[in-house]
Amino acid sequence: MTNILSDFPDEVRPDISSIRENNGVLSAQKCKHICELLSIEIECLMVALLPIAASYSKAPISSFQVGAVARGLNTSSEGYSNLYLGANYEFENQALCHSLHAEQAAISNAWLHDEPSVTSLATSAAPCGHCRQFLYEVSGNKPFSILMPKSFLLSPEAIDISKSQSQNNKDRNHKNKKSKVDFEKNCHSINLATLLPAAFGPMDLGCDRLLMEPGFGSNNLHLVDQSDDELVNKALKAANFCYAPYTENFVGCALQMNDGEIFTGRYAENVAHNPSLSAFTSALSHMTMSNVNNTSENIARVVMVEQAKKSCQRHATSILLAALNQDIRLEYHMAAALDH
Ligand SMILES: [Zn+2]
Repeated sequence: MTNILSDFPDEVRPDISSIRENNGVLSAQKCKHICELLSIEIECLMVALLPIAASYSKAPISSFQVGAVARGLNTSSEGYSNLYLGANYEFENQALCHSLHAEQAAISNAWLHDEPSVTSLATSAAPCGHCRQFLYEVSGNKPFSILMPKSFLLSPEAIDISKSQSQNNKDRNHKNKKSKVDFEKNCHSINLATLLPAAFGPMDLGCDRLLMEPGFGSNNLHLVDQSDDELVNKALKAANFCYAPYTENFVGCALQMNDGEIFTGRYAENVAHNPSLSAFTSALSHMTMSNVNNTSENIARVVMVEQAKKSCQRHATSILLAALNQDIRLEYHMAAALDH
């Protein structure tokens, strides 16, 4: 982090450093502060933050660190939004299907902070097909910009932000000559529809909502066996906020660390099934984005609340957890939908 910070001008380093103390989130207020100081647009800041996002990566299998930065839908009156960081997370000696991609981590981070959607996402490597499908579950047919460093420009149809950016900055007589980061050189944008033409999406399976939409605020679940345990009830809440329109396999996870801190995760189902993000992996990502030094060995308890229906995450989660931490076992609680 210290090395990466040295790429930023002195006056913005405190704001950049705050990301580490704020669960991998840069507030809209701090975005505004940085963008105004450097005279750059928020899209360029998102690309500049990619090395910070990638510093959260745990990639013992590929050794390929990926960072992503998602822009929240909620926007201040000045036009700024919170930015949410994410990184890839691989599990050594485990099946590759458990791997979390940086784009998923950034979306999950935004969702767990109750953003109703995201409008664009920067990524340090071209998004793989798996992630394009995952992002389509968030955007549907709405415009959604993928921002990439210039070396990852994929298509001649891509829009070069740097051109309009240069003009904007000329107009406002920008003052960032001393910036060590050459923001304007690095920014390219391409619409997700260009990367994923003729997409298979939620509507193809009769779903008229999208991942993160507030309509999924409650899945109307209750515990089959009531509990006063705080961790169990946090996992229940996560299950109530999860997104599983195709199977109704509603799942939430809550981890408690040895120091008492709690992290939750929500299941994010995908119309193409395989890009789905499990509740447990979502919680592990939440744990890492809060403190990159957190590891699965520091976990004291893991609770899962699930309505198993057509599919079930209990056994896959138990196996992965047993491999990550041999001292604990999954605490499993069944949930069911309340009668209307
Ligand atoms: Zn990917």
